[in-house]
Amino acid sequence: MNLINDPWIPVQLRDGTTKLITPWQLTVTENPVVALDTVRPDFNAALLQFLIGLLQTAASPTTEEEWVDWLETPPTPDDLKDRFTPYSYAFDLQGPHGSFMQDLNTLHNSGFTGIAQLLIEAPGDNAIKNNKDLFIKRGQIDAICPSCTTIALLTLQINAPAGGQGHRTSLRGGGPLSTLVVPDEQAELPDDLWRRVWLNVLSSSDMVALSGDENRLAPAALFPWLAATRTSEKTGGQETTPLDAHPLQMYWAMPRRIRVEWDTGLSGQCDICNASAENLISQYSTQNYGINYTGAWRHPLSPYSVTANGDWLAQHAQPGGLTYQHWLRLAMHDSNQEPTYFNAITVARYLRISKDWEESLRLHVFGYDMENMKARCWYEATFPLLTVHEAIRFEFSKRVQTLTETAGEFAGFVRSTVKDAWFKRPKEAKGDLSFLTKSFYQNTETDFFSAVRELQIKLANGTDREVLNDWHQTLLKAAVTIFDYWAASGDIAQANPRRVALARNKLFQLAYSNKIKQALQLPPKSKP
Ligand SMILES: [Zn+2]
Repeated sequence: MNLINDPWIPVQLRDGTTKLITPWQLTVTENPVVALDTVRPDFNAALLQFLIGLLQTAASPTTEEEWVDWLETPPTPDDLKDRFTPYSYAFDLQGPHGSFMQDLNTLHNSGFTGIAQLLIEAPGDNAIKNNKDLFIKRGQIDAICPSCTTIALLTLQINAPAGGQGHRTSLRGGGPLSTLVVPDEQAELPDDLWRRVWLNVLSSSDMVALSGDENRLAPAALFPWLAATRTSEKTGGQETTPLDAHPLQMYWAMPRRIRVEWDTGLSGQCDICNASAENLISQYSTQNYGINYTGAWRHPLSPYSVTANGDWLAQHAQPGGLTYQHWLRLAMHDSNQEPTYFNAITVARYLRISKDWEESLRLHVFGYDMENMKARCWYEATFPLLTVHEAIRFEFSKRVQTLTETAGEFAGFVRSTVKDAWFKRPKEAKGDLSFLTKSFYQNTETDFFSAVRELQIKLANGTDREVLNDWHQTLLKAAVTIFDYWAASGDIAQANPRRVALARNKLFQLAYSNKIKQALQLPPKSKP
């Protein structure tokens, strides 16, 4: 199979039907492609990044104008095919010059690994020994179709977690966070797959700023599977820094040495997508000490922080998920004010060019919550993208910070007072109350984004205090609602109405503490 010429990408069409397409069929006009359609959100996210990488590699716009042209009027499938075909030699699954995202050489390791281990949440050997395989049960996934195998391989190379000695992590570390610019459902720009991809392709002028050496033009400098792997053994191995590869290798990075056994003679139903396939894949071989990406790589689709030592670290999702608490940083961080954090290059590009755009777009954020070798959870969220006038940007950021910090305080008030209501000795009570925080943020999210939009208007005319005062009401209302619901739902036998009433009083006192009044600019004498 060739990933340019053969259909392998599962998509959903406007009329609701689904099918496999080639990458260049992305822009068919009759019954257009509206979304990716794999059975797993992390598979969809990996495919999205494959398509962005392919367009960036084979059809990068020279100027911003060219980029806007294709955003408004997509190229025809034939146009795209002409652009992709010269690169098809690098996209064979079993090619004479190398096989997509697989090691060029035979791997000298102990036999084969079951295909389920290619999935990122697959339990390691120790987990199986210790009977801890919670996500995937042994024997559940035995044989999968070529499309699912390719997507699983891609997902692993993009997200590779630490995998034991010498099993290298992805160029951005294990399970990085990605932030993409996507159309808003209510906006004029059609919310189809083409726009979701093309909005995140950079023009050549932005490409110049990417990490990597653009003078390295050998095919393997872009597609590392086309040459012997730059292995990273402790003795005799090497690291791979931005000086050793073309910038586009960031989209095609291959930290894991893998060779899939494609010819099995097995046919039947795929254990992941249920499709019938002539050729089902059941095993692969792998070896450690693959490409070790080190140094100042900066992948264009991820936000980065910079440490005191000057190291660039791709950001990762944290336990607790993605809430509006993360919005300011992910969507519009001002690196001039705080140069230790940088938005994804594609997001920063959008903020730069969108000042006089009418179009409203959103930020699509996703990534795993990884615990070392293990994927604990997949997080995904979309948030509004705003462009704020330069004259008020600093004040705007400060005010938004006040909104999120006070929301954090109130979430804490709810947790501690619900505990007070539930337990005779709250300090000794154990248990995870993070669901209260989650519920609090969900409850206030719509109001948060209304407040943020209000701020844009009211900062300009000096009445922003009203927004802060209103936000206090929002927080108080949500806190009391959640308190009343949960405080009353504790163990009935233990319920103590007097304790609940005292805790409720305390919640009001905390809500009107001097710290909160100052932060939200309430009149000093205001009382519950
Ligand atoms: Zn499948």
